Amino acid sequence: MSSGYEPVIGLEIHVQLRTKTKMFCGCELSFGDPPNVHTCPVCLGLPGALPVVNARAIHYALMVGMALGCELAPRSIFHRKNYFYPDLPKGYQISQYDIPICSGGNLGDVRIHRAHLEEDAAKLIHVGGSGRIHGADASVVDYNRGGTPLVEIVTEPDVRSAAQAREWLTLLRETLRQLGVSDVNMEEGSLRCDANVSIRPVGSDVLGTKTELKNMNSFRFLERGVEAEIARQIALVQSGEEVVQETLHYDPVSGSISSLRSKEEAHDYRYFPEPDLVPVVLTEAMIAAARAELPELPAQRAARYESQLGLSADSARLFAFRADLAHYFEAALAEDDANAQVLANWISGELVARLGDDDPAQSKVTPAAIAQLVALLHSRAVTPGAAKQVLDRLVADGGEPGAIVEAEGLGAIGGGDELADVVRRALESDPSAVEKLKAGNMKAIGPIVGFVMRETKGRADGGEVNRLVREQLGL
Ligand code: ADP
Ligand code: ZN
Ligand code: MG
Repeated sequence: MSSGYEPVIGLEIHVQLRTKTKMFCGCELSFGDPPNVHTCPVCLGLPGALPVVNARAIHYALMVGMALGCELAPRSIFHRKNYFYPDLPKGYQISQYDIPICSGGNLGDVRIHRAHLEEDAAKLIHVGGSGRIHGADASVVDYNRGGTPLVEIVTEPDVRSAAQAREWLTLLRETLRQLGVSDVNMEEGSLRCDANVSIRPVGSDVLGTKTELKNMNSFRFLERGVEAEIARQIALVQSGEEVVQETLHYDPVSGSISSLRSKEEAHDYRYFPEPDLVPVVLTEAMIAAARAELPELPAQRAARYESQLGLSADSARLFAFRADLAHYFEAALAEDDANAQVLANWISGELVARLGDDDPAQSKVTPAAIAQLVALLHSRAVTPGAAKQVLDRLVADGGEPGAIVEAEGLGAIGGGDELADVVRRALESDPSAVEKLKAGNMKAIGPIVGFVMRETKGRADGGEVNRLVREQLGL
């Protein structure tokens, strides 16, 4: 960085788990239901109500831990995190403290510090305008969300730019989505991210004082917020001031950053072990069950496609993020694995251009058909231009590429007199191009090839046209 400072960023991500019921009671999880219809004495914190751990939430947490390469604690415990706020009816949040269920690990080039289970707080809604209560602005609480199972993932401070933060969170979201443990929707709050930001002189390995940007609710805001905070800190330090440790709010509309609370006001949560819950003791069966449900995840799939199939990093990444495309690609590859990269290009390029976000497995183009089309292309039985026309037909009507080529007369015109003849006519029609070509200006071949392609409706092999031009002009 030209400023001489390097940003250091660590992320804390809250992931709402997609269980049927809440973390410690039988209330249904819901998004979008009327307020306060999914509550009971446990999640309302009524005296005498006792929590019971949701086994499915533990199962999902284990899957997350495995996906992130974490160590799984044989025995982890819950703590009470005490603070007073209306979104927390018990006066404490049940969370994990010194023995989280998952610790260590990494995703891509970012190390994971820990991942632990906890319950979500209720949702505070600030009402003004027409929602005012007794003529006043007010805050109301929806306890439906209170008690939703969360996994909180904490990274090591390994991220070095706002763009990398966004990129990495995208990978994490896709990993969680493919695990099937969460809806991972930032706008709806099922994935929430806080960013810890500091700067230090380039070359230093000492951590600077960090600030914490709370609750960025989109990838764009995360990137912009972190960007703005890095700039703010650099400007501070360059003007001789110091970064103060505090919790900040980034306003995406104005782009401004304001203080929520400083270190002096920081909470003392008075953690102590939750006396109403037994420790979570992992059994072989629990671990085996979580492992059995682990799909191949984006990072592994991308690595496998690059190293085993020799795909480009771009193709591998696209398939990593689009499991439907990856499954389709593998089905096509099983039909014919001679041209993995060409097949990948046609699926990720031409096919996606025609199907958009739709799963190709639901389209009329069978994996066998795309594999055959690529084989025809590879053997030069069709040209790329003609293959695109065949693909149009496949998308519209399905069918078999060989038969379509036959029926529509789309086969390539390669050797033989037919193509030589068209090339001859092309050269006769354009003496000035011929002159330039003879003078060594090979760019002049453009109009000649264009003529041939028009005449043959795109069925001429470009390489062959090139060869014939040189042959006929004696170049
Ligand atoms: P706290 O005690 O304030 O919660 P932690 O050490 O638990 O801080 O770290 C919380 C998050 O902040 C982690 O994601 C961590 O990687 C990150 N972090 C810690 N120190 C720094 C720093 N100096 N700069 C940027 N991020 C940091
Ligand atoms: Zn409940
Ligand atoms: Mg912490």
